Amino acid sequence: MIDPFGRKITYLRISVTDRCDFRCVYCMSETMTFLPRADLLSLEELDRICSAFIRHGVRKLRLTGGEPLVRRGIMTLVNSLSRHLDSGALDELTLTTNGSQLVRFADRLAAAGVRRINVSIDTFDAEKFHRITRRGELDKVLEGVAAARAAGLAVKINAVALRGVNEDEIDSMLAWCGAHDTDLTLIETMPLGDIGGRRSEQYLPLSLVRQRLAKNWTLTDSAYNSGGPARYVTVAETGRKLGFITPLTHNFCESCNRVRLTCTGRLYMCLGQDDWADLRQPVRDSEADDLLDGAILEAIGRKPRGHDFIIDRHHDGPALSRHMSVTGG
Ligand code: SAM
Repeated sequence: MIDPFGRKITYLRISVTDRCDFRCVYCMSETMTFLPRADLLSLEELDRICSAFIRHGVRKLRLTGGEPLVRRGIMTLVNSLSRHLDSGALDELTLTTNGSQLVRFADRLAAAGVRRINVSIDTFDAEKFHRITRRGELDKVLEGVAAARAAGLAVKINAVALRGVNEDEIDSMLAWCGAHDTDLTLIETMPLGDIGGRRSEQYLPLSLVRQRLAKNWTLTDSAYNSGGPARYVTVAETGRKLGFITPLTHNFCESCNRVRLTCTGRLYMCLGQDDWADLRQPVRDSEADDLLDGAILEAIGRKPRGHDFIIDRHHDGPALSRHMSVTGG
């Protein structure tokens, strides 16, 4: 699948549920209205859509959410999708998780052929963690990370850089990751959804974070590419990688290879635009895949060039009403 700007689409992210056991302050408001369960795609329908994308050349799937590990029956989907790893049609099946359920799932994920996962942790201070997530217990998440590593999964930590919240900790987070053989990726907060607060109060440009880190660490640009939006440096002192996801300070759309499916079957061709294509109806209208295939190819044909997020005094509200939990990170 080649989009109108010549980009090859090889990566599908699937938000398997918009529900989450955390309410991170930059992601959701305290009071969220979740999608009615009746609107959700079944696990079989999710599998059918993922398999159609694989037939059209997608090589990497990432399950996300909401929290993917709170979707009932999630291992049925993972186990079923793993057949595409076995056949060689898929290079990678992975997920992004908050880690709260990993103790229960780590072994089963590894057995299904998942090789690496991203775990979102914005601070290693338990009290602050509880405040950011409005619910979470850091101990449980760290037990989950340990369980994942014990099961043989490579773990990358994702942290959203938040002004006045974790900016003083990024040095020590990098040290923690070095000591625990994990890479770290920092993310700029994106203006998605009403979070009941001001975005400009949270926003911390990663260009500034990198400058600060460079005082204490030797950071060398790396050609490594995980197939996602992060740009990496190597950290000489730890030997680990540090990634930067910079949708605001450096737009990365020119190399975008991704599209996103929601749990209700909407396909978003860009995280930062509102246009979407409905894949649920074509799946439900016909047991054959012709309608679905047609809808997928038509949607790729209208993937936009990119997004332009701005956060400053004049742009303090959401750029889009949709929360990140709908389309997944
Ligand atoms: N529940 C899972 C998790 O916590 O990783 C998966 C879904 S979560 C929406 C995926 C990622 O998006 C997390 O790393 C989260 O920190 C990030 N995220 C959520 N809202 C964001 C925002 N407004 N800007 C930047 N990153 C955001």
